[in-house]
Amino acid sequence: MSNTPQLLKGQAALVTGADSGIGKGVALAMAAAGAKLLINYAHNKAAADDVVSQIKAFGGDAFAFQADVSHEEEVKAMFAEIFKQYGTIDILVNNAGLQKDSKFVDMTLDDWNKVISINLTGQFLCAREAAREFIKRGVIEEKSKAAGKIICMSSVHEVIPWAGHVNYAASKGGIMMFMKSIAQELAPHKIRVNGIGPGAIQTPINKEAWETPDALDKLLTLIPYNRIGQPDDIGKLAVWLASDESDYVTGVTIFADGGMTLYPGFADNG
Ligand code: NAD
Repeated sequence: MSNTPQLLKGQAALVTGADSGIGKGVALAMAAAGAKLLINYAHNKAAADDVVSQIKAFGGDAFAFQADVSHEEEVKAMFAEIFKQYGTIDILVNNAGLQKDSKFVDMTLDDWNKVISINLTGQFLCAREAAREFIKRGVIEEKSKAAGKIICMSSVHEVIPWAGHVNYAASKGGIMMFMKSIAQELAPHKIRVNGIGPGAIQTPINKEAWETPDALDKLLTLIPYNRIGQPDDIGKLAVWLASDESDYVTGVTIFADGGMTLYPGFADNG
């Protein structure tokens, strides 16, 4: 970790859902790149505390904070806490998300609302608080060329339809236009907003897709690069997108999916 380039040195980053899976991978990668971290979690304090300990073990700075990203008051309290601890925020990673799967005709309104309110409205609530602070504070040259960076965790399902998961796919399609629209609106303020579209990353959210050899073999037929992704694959990309190395990049989703969006069914002449 000590050899990692300090691309985010001294910057304050908030990662939602950072106690597990991709969010944890992003938080660890950003801390290794020199950022100070707010590790947001919804329920699992022990897991969040463990991420904080891992960061402190290599000399980084982090603290855990519980907030449900779909609740406005909890989001505001979370931002008040990062301002108190670190004075400001430089990077927001809107990562928290979940699935509530069912056939479309059996889907309850509760399961629709739950997924939309966490996956999509949660990103709105957090990005709005971050953007207000970025605009108020402006650019601090010694830290970054941008006044702030927002990364929206989307999915290959912002473009690949997904039967049996209509609430999830609708939330991710929504994130794409949310991300692009605020990128357009915030660019004059020197704020960059981008999306990451992970393919299949090995985390608890999709355990049934990789936990048995049969399931993994079936999954690999959808991945031309022929391996499942790891949280650190996304962590490295998030560090780059949050750093000045990507200073001219805004309003795009970068897919990190081993080729899942390349229509693998057409690889053998369709
Ligand atoms: P995960 O289940 O390991 O992590 C999800 C995180 O979101 C957890 O930390 C959870 O506590 C948090 N969360 C859920 N509801 C919350 C709430 N109301 N408030 C705050 N936090 C909340 O799954 P993951 O795979 O790491 O998923 C992270 C993100 O990546 C999600 O947005 C998911 O849609 C996206 N994604 C994952 C994959 C994949 O293959 N794993 C692929 C594409 C996109």
